[in-house]
Amino acid sequence: MNNNWQHNARNTLKGADNCNAFFQSQQFQDQSFPIKIPLEFASLIDKDNPNDPLLKQVIPSIKPQIETLDFSIEPLKDEENSPVAGLIHKYPNRVLLITSRVCAIHCQYCFRQNFNYIGHDAVSNYLAIEDYIYRHPKINEVILSGGDPLSLSDEKLAQLIKGIENIPHIKNLRIHTRSAVVTPSRITEKLIKLLSQSRLNVVLVTHVNHANELSNDFAKAIQALSGVTLLNQSVLLKGVNDSVSTLSKLSMGLFELGILPYYLHLLDKVRGAEHFLVSDEEAQQLHKVLQKQLSGYLVPRLVRDENLAAKTWV
Ligand code: SF4
Repeated sequence: MNNNWQHNARNTLKGADNCNAFFQSQQFQDQSFPIKIPLEFASLIDKDNPNDPLLKQVIPSIKPQIETLDFSIEPLKDEENSPVAGLIHKYPNRVLLITSRVCAIHCQYCFRQNFNYIGHDAVSNYLAIEDYIYRHPKINEVILSGGDPLSLSDEKLAQLIKGIENIPHIKNLRIHTRSAVVTPSRITEKLIKLLSQSRLNVVLVTHVNHANELSNDFAKAIQALSGVTLLNQSVLLKGVNDSVSTLSKLSMGLFELGILPYYLHLLDKVRGAEHFLVSDEEAQQLHKVLQKQLSGYLVPRLVRDENLAAKTWV
């Protein structure tokens, strides 16, 4: 694989015809959330297995969608907590910035697939955001989210992070990213330097759902991030990771790479993702068994998102 991440980010499978040809499959059909699969991720998929757990995450639902009260176009009402465009403020100590609308991959369970990114660009609205954070001295943590913040160039990220570092009451910087695992070449030397040398306590939250995503390239990339706290969040997905053995293997694999399993999210009920739903009861049962089988630090917290900046323990 080429080690130029921008080249790799463009090197993606897009659209049903392209994907059906690549995987020699008939499973893909174009739906409203466009298909996008980076080749770095596609290379980990077993083409002979129509139930491959990585493949399942990127195939759009082709069943006619039954309108249910539970599943909606936009399950989380993030905009209600947005006092400044591009910034979500729910809890006194932290704010979340929508830094990019772009993702390296389109996960078909994504609750933000219909999010109105227009008017929510933290990069172009940074001055207003900075002013807001200055006026709220209780804020000590900034979370970079998106889309995927690592879809920004190293230069843009550096500019953003330097700006945040200049705000004296900000202590912690958290970055939520799926790019790190689906396009490990994104962890460039410049990025490593930027995060390792920041005056802020940097926490990188990866988004890995299955141990098969933990490639050698990802292992090498992530282990170079010295001085950065590494956590993981997963989404509990039917047919992908809804078993004790799969989740245990994931926790152990993450820990071997120095990443602590942090959150296990219940599915956010976005329309088109109905087939990924694991019920609350099943999830709680799985979680109970995990607690018995694994050391406490390997058991992620079972949570449900209330909005972009808040979680509820389940
Ligand atoms: S990378 Fe994150 S924001 Fe982007 S499609 Fe996947 S889950 Fe959604």
